[in-house]
Amino acid sequence: MSLLFRNEEEEKAFEAGKDLALSCGFSEAALLDCSTIELSDAVRQMCEKNTCGMYAGNWACPPGCGSLEECRSRIGGYRWGILVQTVGELEDSLDYDGMMETEKRHKETFLKAAEMLKRQYPGLLALGVGCCTVCSSCSYPDAPCRFPDKQISSMESYGIMVSDLCRANGLGYYYGPGKIAYTSCYLLG
Ligand code: SF4
Repeated sequence: MSLLFRNEEEEKAFEAGKDLALSCGFSEAALLDCSTIELSDAVRQMCEKNTCGMYAGNWACPPGCGSLEECRSRIGGYRWGILVQTVGELEDSLDYDGMMETEKRHKETFLKAAEMLKRQYPGLLALGVGCCTVCSSCSYPDAPCRFPDKQISSMESYGIMVSDLCRANGLGYYYGPGKIAYTSCYLLG
């Protein structure tokens, strides 16, 4: 039994959560040791370059999602969670449509599994990919978030270097040419 778990019941709960994630359609699911989560100023600085065009454009992205200290305090109470991935096939390294299709599939699976996990873990923290797309147009910064309970931040917006976190938890990240992986996580225990 992993030292992360206080008892066998917790380990069984993780195995059930992992099975649920895989049955929802993720390609991979692995135990996340929350002590391996590092929030980095360098990742935040990448966000500030705004290559995705969403910096300061969404409550779930920086700076709307709060400082690294605020993010650290939100994840501080968790010991374990589940890392999930969708691995898609690409025709070549420029296959933008293939990337978008895999991202869309990953986001749909992520929301579906989050709804199911919430029934057992009402206090779960789900961190996904990209900006929050719950509303067709975010209310940032003119009005408060419309659905704070549904809002989804990305792992990067919390300052997480996703490749490092995967490595630290024994999960692959690069699956070779012709493949792309999108990674998210649920903090549960
Ligand atoms: S729930 Fe709506 S208002 Fe809130 S962060 Fe997401 S898109 Fe923006």
